[in-house]
Amino acid sequence: MKIGILGGGMCGLVAANALAGEHDVVMFEKMPFLGGCLASYHIDDYWIERYYHHCFSGDEQLFTLIRELGLWDKLEWREGSTGYFSGGTLYPLTTPLQILRWPELSFIDKVKLVSLTFRAKKTDLLSLDDIPAETYILEHLGPRIYSSFFEPLLRSKFGKNRSKVSAAWLISRIAIRSNRGVSGEHLGYLNGGFHQIIDKLEKSIINKGGIIHQQTPVTSLSRNDAHWEINGERVDVVLSTIPPTELATLAGITMPDIPYQGAACMTMGIERDVCKGVYWINMKDEGPYGAVVAHTNFVPKERYGEHIVYLASYFSGSVPVRLDQKMRDDFCSRFSLQEKDIHWSRMAIDPWAGPIYTTGYRSLIPAYEKHGIYLAGMFSEENYPERSMEGSIRAGTHIAQRIREKVH
Ligand SMILES: Cc1cc2nc3c(=O)[nH]c(=O)nc-3n(C[C@H](O)[C@H](O)[C@H](O)COP(=O)(O)OP(=O)(O)OC[C@H]3O[C@@H](n4cnc5c(N)ncnc54)[C@H](O)[C@@H]3O)c2cc1C
Repeated sequence: MKIGILGGGMCGLVAANALAGEHDVVMFEKMPFLGGCLASYHIDDYWIERYYHHCFSGDEQLFTLIRELGLWDKLEWREGSTGYFSGGTLYPLTTPLQILRWPELSFIDKVKLVSLTFRAKKTDLLSLDDIPAETYILEHLGPRIYSSFFEPLLRSKFGKNRSKVSAAWLISRIAIRSNRGVSGEHLGYLNGGFHQIIDKLEKSIINKGGIIHQQTPVTSLSRNDAHWEINGERVDVVLSTIPPTELATLAGITMPDIPYQGAACMTMGIERDVCKGVYWINMKDEGPYGAVVAHTNFVPKERYGEHIVYLASYFSGSVPVRLDQKMRDDFCSRFSLQEKDIHWSRMAIDPWAGPIYTTGYRSLIPAYEKHGIYLAGMFSEENYPERSMEGSIRAGTHIAQRIREKVH
């Protein structure tokens, strides 16, 4: 059987790798590179993700994949420190002492926060799908903790959509991010970059006879008797890993209208660390980015010969005008950096960077088959209530198994 796969991100690549060899696989990727949200830049002699990435201790399928691809010895565990930027000051908030000294919350508020962290792991997420995160926090922890701690977090992640986000998303994030010691959160990274996974998957698919078309957006998908035509190319089976709304438009079919948001992320190579050694900084002060992610305060800068920082923002609709210049200017002035200390900068923009986990989101998750098309990706069950590399690997593996069982 000839299987056409829409999208060359993690989900599409994992599914293609599982099906190639047994079936004729042809993949269509709109960008001139593979990896989707996990694609990387090649800067001089190193690779760096276009969007900051790390993995978590529970990412079992990711670890299985890393082992299968012969990359296990590259997986390393590091401490991810955090901080808050508020009132023009960066507060490192990693060690118990730093947290105790943080002036924005009282001691009682901090105790309440810690107790929520412990409860989060045991909370039934399904029951929280219809409750707004804002309502949940206001009810359980009160307005000061909401406005000082959670509102900036939600704003940096969902912008204007923050009041629509469900408590299921928030509590799942708290649960997953509470794997920490006294010097920070335990986070995983692949020495040399996650691009190695994408690279190895691509080679494996091609070795098994699969065909990958890059820079080939799918613009039409239609049914022709028992076959399908993707951009006019005939296939027997279609797997779509692209956003359901995009699929609906190009195929002229109905799909659940899953709300997505875009990400605009600037990556910079800079001369010195201006983040006080902190990896992840949430911006309470409003600006053109909601978080600063200092990659080289997580992975040693010696590997790159310079410091690497991401300025992260999410958007709905269109990207604000001149966002890249606004980000650079703002970062230089807030973090006391001079333009001459920026070696290079690149802007990555993806209007489909992730679903917005609004209340009632769960009921929107599409079935694995609709209109005779197989569906898996960021929008799948496995990526609820937060999308991740792990979720897309699970979704890709699941859908490949399903196709294998049904198609001979
Ligand atoms: C800013 C950011 C930070 C993240 N950080 C982490 C992290 O730290 N840890 C973690 O586990 N996960 C993280 N993620 C999430 C993770 O990267 C994604 O969940 C995962 O890579 C999604 O893979 P996917 O294949 O499902 O979707 P995508 O990566 O979106 O792949 C879909 C592919 O389809 C292509 N496509 C779309 N339309 C068409 C078309 N019409 N024709 C052809 N091709 C098309 C796209 O170009 C893309 O390559 C992050 C994501 C972002 C955006």
